[in-house]
Amino acid sequence: RPPRIRKPDWIRVKAPTSVGFSETKALMRRLNLATVCEEAACPNIGECWTKKHATVMILGDTCTRACAFCNVKTGMPRAVDPFEPQHTADAAAELGLEHIVITSVDRDDLPDGGASQFVKVIEALRRTTPSTTIEILTPDFRNKAESAVEKIVAARPDVYNHNLETVPRLYPTIRPGARYYASLRLLESVKKHDPSIFTKSGLMTGLGEQRLEVHQVMDDMRSADIDFLTMGQYLQPTPRHAKVEEFTTPQAFSAYAAIARAKGFLLVAASPLTRSSYHAGDDFAKLREA
Ligand code: SF4
Ligand code: SF4
Repeated sequence: RPPRIRKPDWIRVKAPTSVGFSETKALMRRLNLATVCEEAACPNIGECWTKKHATVMILGDTCTRACAFCNVKTGMPRAVDPFEPQHTADAAAELGLEHIVITSVDRDDLPDGGASQFVKVIEALRRTTPSTTIEILTPDFRNKAESAVEKIVAARPDVYNHNLETVPRLYPTIRPGARYYASLRLLESVKKHDPSIFTKSGLMTGLGEQRLEVHQVMDDMRSADIDFLTMGQYLQPTPRHAKVEEFTTPQAFSAYAAIARAKGFLLVAASPLTRSSYHAGDDFAKLREA
């Protein structure tokens, strides 16, 4: 097997050792909540948890899909936890979150794909911490997308995020269970149902995509009226996962960001360690102040 490419210097992260980190971890365990920070082996966990920023992953820690880039475990998930919505809201309150990002595994096994759990979480948050802004990062809900979006949009999250992850040519290998145009349509329909909800999507780089393919995805996103874009370097979580084809340089990320802004995105975050939820609250707060 050819050797893996060495990580460049710009992918550097601090080991998670702070008090904030331990407290965040203890809180999540006490409330029986999973986080994408841990399950996806996010490189920013030291920084984010020190500041008590965590992204809760609802509907359990086991996914019905197996995307080639993702560290979340695949299998038959457990029954939905009825306490999860209130526990999520309690976590937001205890962490003092001004902005919370909620994501989930894919639950193709559930009749509504898990949409009603998203609604319950939003309702619990509105009751418990009314001033917290809510960003949800949902799966594509496969053939249940229309009814799922309708339900979730009616609960009025502030930001609706769904990641396209990569360019359409790489879907069969990287996101085999998903369809590029279905994901785009999902985001477009959020905006059609309620134009006051901000829509957001993200891409990973380093999977073999070409620059012009990325520009085309940006155009597709803008045609679907997507407001915010995040872009970050893909990192291979284990040798079983898709390999890194290339490390995108910080300069190349800046060039992508400049092009994205010129194409009309309201918020753009693009850097090696950018993730969907990285600094999401700070960026959103700045936009609201502007
Ligand atoms: Fe968690 Fe997002 Fe921070 Fe990663 S970037 S540690 S997923 S909040
Ligand atoms: Fe990971 Fe989401 Fe794919 Fe499941 S659907 S394997 S959680 S990226």
